[in-house]
Amino acid sequence: MALPVEEWRQNVARRWAALEPALREQLAAASLGEALRVGCGLFGPEVAALRRLCGRVRTDKEPAAARFYREEGNRRFGLCRYSEAARLYSQAAAHEPPRSPEVALCFANRSAALFHLGRFEVCLEDIARAESHGYPDRLLPKVLLRKAECLLRLGRLQDATDTLTAVENKMTVDGIMTSSTHLTLLKKLNQLKTEIHQGSCSEPSRGAHGDIQRESEIWEENGSISGASSSLSLNFNTERGRHLVASQDILPGQNLLKEKAFVCVLCPVEGDSLLLQNSSETVWDTQVTNADLYCHHCLKQLLASVPCCGCSYAKYCSQNCADVAWEQYHRTECPLGALLLMLGVFCHVALRTVLLAGFSEVSRLVEWSHDDSNKDLCNAEAGDKHSSEALDTRAGTKGIPGCNDDGQYQSSYRAVFNLLPHVEKHSPEHKFLCMLSIIAICKKLQETGLEAAVLNRESSIMGSEQKMYGKTSEELSPELMITAEAMLRHVLQLQCNAQAVTVTQELESGDGAVVNKKPVRLATAFFPVLSLLNHSCSPNISVSFSGTVATVRASQPIPSGQEIFHCYGPHHCRMRVAERQQLLSQYFFECRCQACLDELESDVESVSMRNSFCCPNCQASMQGKEMLCCSNEACAFSVSRGRLSRRLLDLQQQMEKALELLRDSKADEAIRMLLKCQMDARNFLSPEHLLMGELEDHLAQIYAALGKWQEAARHLERSIQLVEMHHGPSSVEMGHELFKLAQILFNGLAVSEALSTIQRAEEILSVHCGPQSTQIQELQEMKTCLLELPRSILQRT
Ligand SMILES: [Zn+2]
Ligand SMILES: [Zn+2]
Ligand SMILES: [Zn+2]
Ligand SMILES: [Zn+2]
Repeated sequence: MALPVEEWRQNVARRWAALEPALREQLAAASLGEALRVGCGLFGPEVAALRRLCGRVRTDKEPAAARFYREEGNRRFGLCRYSEAARLYSQAAAHEPPRSPEVALCFANRSAALFHLGRFEVCLEDIARAESHGYPDRLLPKVLLRKAECLLRLGRLQDATDTLTAVENKMTVDGIMTSSTHLTLLKKLNQLKTEIHQGSCSEPSRGAHGDIQRESEIWEENGSISGASSSLSLNFNTERGRHLVASQDILPGQNLLKEKAFVCVLCPVEGDSLLLQNSSETVWDTQVTNADLYCHHCLKQLLASVPCCGCSYAKYCSQNCADVAWEQYHRTECPLGALLLMLGVFCHVALRTVLLAGFSEVSRLVEWSHDDSNKDLCNAEAGDKHSSEALDTRAGTKGIPGCNDDGQYQSSYRAVFNLLPHVEKHSPEHKFLCMLSIIAICKKLQETGLEAAVLNRESSIMGSEQKMYGKTSEELSPELMITAEAMLRHVLQLQCNAQAVTVTQELESGDGAVVNKKPVRLATAFFPVLSLLNHSCSPNISVSFSGTVATVRASQPIPSGQEIFHCYGPHHCRMRVAERQQLLSQYFFECRCQACLDELESDVESVSMRNSFCCPNCQASMQGKEMLCCSNEACAFSVSRGRLSRRLLDLQQQMEKALELLRDSKADEAIRMLLKCQMDARNFLSPEHLLMGELEDHLAQIYAALGKWQEAARHLERSIQLVEMHHGPSSVEMGHELFKLAQILFNGLAVSEALSTIQRAEEILSVHCGPQSTQIQELQEMKTCLLELPRSILQRT
């Protein structure tokens, strides 16, 4: 969801096509500020279209939605599907008015689900929330008993006793309950009292994740680049722009950079499809998005979310995150929710960037950029040879764009502002789309009186100006024009500098014996230091994320003097050079990395073989572009690529159906279906096709769920061969696969195989994720456990 929704894009494209040619030319050549001044005059017919589109994105609190989610939550609760129930109560809470008995009821219900999930600490938090939001007095004893039970399970006996005394007093004092409920509660109360007395629950349950922080890695920070290791240095030349170079020999796995995002916005949905609802439909669905799963502010995974008090969209992991977000940016964003979702995550990042920077810093840098001598600096980096010569001769890092007067490069707004916007290289249509989108946001800020908040001013001081640039004004105030210019710059920068924040999401499979992990794009962010890294299709680092913090590690030995390379997406293991170059064109450069040069010279199509079709008649490889011909002359079979592509699509759908069967606990049927898919796939896909690996992976998953560890391991090993071929033997993908295999072998008590797999997984994952990652910790726990097994079991295996 980087760009605005399709409907808005089309609307703007029609507007662009209808402009006078002279005006189009003027806009194409204009500076950002000039373009915005012209754009504001043009903006008008868009208002109605925007209002219509925003009406189809739901971010308000709606009682009907609250009712739907609460009822659905109760239904799942009845089916003992407690994590689903907890999530649905969260969604209900997000739609209830804040500080109301209704929202308190949602928290109380959720606390019951959390109790069943064994998450006692979080359950207690929810009970406290219910109490503080005005939970009905007559229902309180039931919730307080749950509280006592939680405290008991956590081994807090005194607190449990105190709570019970409070319940007892309450019940005798008001005696308002019907006699039967009263009796049930009394029974429960007595039961708990005996349990406390006996101390029968003496074993306090551990926190499910055991958040023990290990001592951090030894690391020496760079004096001039914030967050970077001292083994890096910042260089600059006209050919490569700013870039980081190893200033000493670097070992694989070595920590090179730890950077917190300057700004980070959660992507509502994975992929590029925010689907607008038809205004006639008032259907609520139970589909889960990133917005339901991760904290809007810090990206922590949500269990019991705290909803925003203004909208139904933003959810937080804690009241603290909710308060910080509100203070820093959300009070401005909250009323703009639907508009921001519709205009896409790039516009949203642009707005939040200026909100975080503060108006005085924004206006200082916008004015600085208008100064001609500073333009030269920026052009130098964009590769403009004429203006760059002066720079090359400067010593040290002082003259490098984005560095402060002491030559230090910090994760600051100055550094973000100095990322290249490539104003001249974007297509005029694209610039027009970005511009109208930014104007839409600024007009809305002015219209809703949020301007003061953006400019960090008291509304009273704004008084006089607001008369001039009131709600109906055609123009934007001079301050908002400056803000708009900065935002437009940021949207254009994002095309080359947006960093996706990804996590490996754990998918529970069946009984949860084997955890399946899938990489998910969570958010879009600016990391000004990480952005210093140039691209290579064969990078020498690996990036991992924890919340909004990125960690960069060397993935191979890097000798002193060599440049540090990040892969922007197109990796040489996954794509052919032509495909990579096409994808990289959005970054306005032609990749000349070693992998590209080698491939362009040798014209060996190594990767193309891997994801190709084979002849349905004789399984020989197929040749050609649109029309595919069998490479076996004797066969000479031919078929259109489209037909085989459709067959592949069918196969993928069958595979999805098989996984659905698995979710409904119909494992045998799922296996039969997958085996049939496999037979079919062998007929027209090359044996190295990634889908072959996926099929093996799914089979392994089902056998693991059934406890058939040997079969599971056999299938997973075949999947691993393909992953190795596609991603390389020391890739992070390979690490995840080996991790899964280790779990299967561990469960199957195949001790020696498990130990050697753990070893391999550990070697790879510690390079990519570091020795402190949870995966490494889990591997080490498995290892300890295996080594401590009684001899009798070891001999059997
Ligand atoms: Zn948070
Ligand atoms: Zn909100
Ligand atoms: Zn390349
Ligand atoms: Zn053939």
